[in-house]
Amino acid sequence: MQKLSEVYRGKAKTVYATENPDFLVLEFRNDTSALDGKRIEQFYRKGIINNQFNHFIMLKLEEAGISTQLEHLLSENELLVKKLDMFPLESVIRNRAAGSLAKRLALQEGLLLDSPIYELFLKNDSLHDPMITASYCETFGWASTAHLVKMKELSYKVNDVLSPLFDAADLILVDFKLEFGLFKGEIILGDEFSPDGCRIWDKTTLNKLDKDRFRQNLGGLIGAYEEVAKRIGVPLNQ
Ligand code: ADP
Ligand code: UDP
Repeated sequence: MQKLSEVYRGKAKTVYATENPDFLVLEFRNDTSALDGKRIEQFYRKGIINNQFNHFIMLKLEEAGISTQLEHLLSENELLVKKLDMFPLESVIRNRAAGSLAKRLALQEGLLLDSPIYELFLKNDSLHDPMITASYCETFGWASTAHLVKMKELSYKVNDVLSPLFDAADLILVDFKLEFGLFKGEIILGDEFSPDGCRIWDKTTLNKLDKDRFRQNLGGLIGAYEEVAKRIGVPLNQ
């Protein structure tokens, strides 16, 4: 499928139209952002790693019966996807306390949560992605109750599929962010699942192997992403 004009340049990906209005190309760039896009750096090979990582994970989710945007890989750093009408929302699942949850409730980082938490955030960099509730979505028209119920159910299902997958590779899936959209009336998982949008720790050492290495200036970002990819079996072209 031919890549046509650029329709959107985000912080980490560029979106292109194709000759078919139902499909888009996602180009994964090397850009890595923090602080709502105020801090951006490039990391050699990050786009390639995240594209292949995301493709691998979305295939696993498809195999488990979760509908995703996936069509097929177009190149090392490009993916053909269904064009979704995205909800302006981020769904977050947390298995352990970290990041904004640990800060907000003064919890020990790594605290195991008795049952995983589901949170909703509004996707809006200028407002710093504020946390919202289902009631906000109904009032402001960001998503209907029926769609929210489905997004929450799918988010937990993704956790049920991915937590054991990482666990088998001696990794802890601490938390992750998902974005959903509508395709011909159906809720579909869009955007990406990669170490840019989740927290993954080594089960033994508790070393951080995700974008927190960038956020917290720990170094070794790409080595960490490659380590996770290798352990879970992502076929990375060297
Ligand atoms: P951001 O917009 O947060 O800077 P990215 O750089 O990842 O993020 O840009 C990708 C953009 O494409 C995001 O706004 C995301 O919501 C959107 N997107 C992801 N997948 C799809 C899809 N399948 N259809 C339409 N839009 C998508
Ligand atoms: N996350 C993301 N994009 C965002 C905000 C969060 O991918 O704009 C991911 C983040 O990587 C983590 C999870 O969502 O895996 C929960 O993030 P948190 O609310 O703790 O925010 P943070 O402390 O990362 O800002």
